[in-house]
Amino acid sequence: MMHPDTELHFISPEVGYGVFATRPIPRGTLTWALCRFDRVMTLDEVEALPPAYQPHIERYAYVDSAGNYVLCWDLARNVNHSCAPAMLGVGPDLEIAVRDIVPGEQITCEYGGLNLSGKLRCMCGAPDCRGRIGGDDVLHLWQGWDAKVAHALKLAPAVAQPVAGYARNARQFWAWAHGTEPVPSHRAYHAGESSSADDVSSRPWALRSRSAEGK
Ligand SMILES: [Zn+2]
Repeated sequence: MMHPDTELHFISPEVGYGVFATRPIPRGTLTWALCRFDRVMTLDEVEALPPAYQPHIERYAYVDSAGNYVLCWDLARNVNHSCAPAMLGVGPDLEIAVRDIVPGEQITCEYGGLNLSGKLRCMCGAPDCRGRIGGDDVLHLWQGWDAKVAHALKLAPAVAQPVAGYARNARQFWAWAHGTEPVPSHRAYHAGESSSADDVSSRPWALRSRSAEGK
């Protein structure tokens, strides 16, 4: 469930749509939660879908640390990557604003933690843009992401949290925010596959085919 103070904007034919803030969203605010409307599918379930469904999976689903495909039901599936993202993951099922987001600003996330199966060319425009993003980026960037999330979480108890009510485990989020339970590292959500494919197509995610895995 995406934060309610957001809307979809068309950006360009190359990028497509993006998600933008309609009101200020302060650092420490949950911006997204995996909710009961979102669809989580195994690779077998995805491959059993008729061909007409596959382009939608390739374009809009991401892969979690267990190798499941997650298809968001709302505008969250249109969130674009930035190498300087406005939000980062806190645990596997939540995203938190890691800076103050102003109205009209695009809300971006970090695809480098989403187990991409190939490399994507990045056109995010951030000063420190990596140029290409892949599923293994998390292996050398996780410490910086964890530090930003830790800072944001300290502010979480003091800001409105309209997304928390949709979280699958809101109690755990508050335990992280209040420091009573350790926050899991981004490093823990790498699915363990190397992104060796040289895929720079416009598709955000590419299906891992059984033939490509040598099965
Ligand atoms: Zn970039």
